[in-house]
Amino acid sequence: MAGYVGRLAPSPTGALHLGNARTFMIAWLRARKAGGKVVFRMEDLDHPRDKPGAAAQAVEDLRWLGFDWDEEFVQSQRREVYREALERLRLAGRIYPCVCTRKDVENAQSAPHAGEQLFYPGTCRDRFASWEAAAAVRPPCWRFRVTENEPVSFTDVFAGRHVQDVAHTLGDFPLARDAWGAGYTLAAVVDDAAMGVTEVVRGDDLLPATPAQILVQRALGLPAPDYCHVPLAVGRDGRRLAKRHGDTRVATYRAKGLSPEALLGKLAHSCGWGDGSPVRLTELLRVFTLDTIPRRPWVVEEDSL
Ligand code: GLU
Repeated sequence: MAGYVGRLAPSPTGALHLGNARTFMIAWLRARKAGGKVVFRMEDLDHPRDKPGAAAQAVEDLRWLGFDWDEEFVQSQRREVYREALERLRLAGRIYPCVCTRKDVENAQSAPHAGEQLFYPGTCRDRFASWEAAAAVRPPCWRFRVTENEPVSFTDVFAGRHVQDVAHTLGDFPLARDAWGAGYTLAAVVDDAAMGVTEVVRGDDLLPATPAQILVQRALGLPAPDYCHVPLAVGRDGRRLAKRHGDTRVATYRAKGLSPEALLGKLAHSCGWGDGSPVRLTELLRVFTLDTIPRRPWVVEEDSL
């Protein structure tokens, strides 16, 4: 795995909890075990959920746990790069302005949709001659035109083969919320290529978002990294770890006097490495393997530690 480049890409939407720490631990070990580089990327594209102070807190929590990285980027300082990518897609006819609201898209579903991924029926495809024409109706977004009719498939290093027919399950998807502002999908794709990322290790909540990212990569002519999606942490009710499951923030354990080694020992144990006794991050390089990580989500109890 010569030339491996991995990344840690937190969003400042809240404090780092045990689940985030576990995913970052796997990503960091995977890169360092391969003798590779780690890129740190703060994904702070003024998402409405971004919380003041959360970015600095994430860095502090990761440093406390013993993480290091070779390069550091902040997405809010890279808007010009995303703007250029968006312009390339516009010139290639791969994006169009769309004035549909979420409600419009919900109402256009032929079957009730329980999940977050709504199918877009292409209402605004070929509807407006320009962004300005659309903006005269309502504030638009840029949507990516899915022209591929074959399913997108890839083999995830952890999750295995994944196939999604994007054109028929998702349809054209949004890429930017305003004229030149990029959303997560575009920024992640552009950055992974710009930063030379060779493998993306992240939570498997993003597995369903990956085929759309691959289509954007292809449209921009960018190389595709490998993907390694690992199971998330959940509460006892099987739902993604959140406040309702109690306080599992790294900063809280730290404030209570727990050592980083004790916390890492537990996280490592949940991955099948060691017996749960305290351990330093670098010491885990000796026992790291993807093979022992359980395939099901990690169930966290409030008093796990
Ligand atoms: N910033 C995203 C998150 O914290 C992760 C994005 C990614 O790894 O591609 O959920």
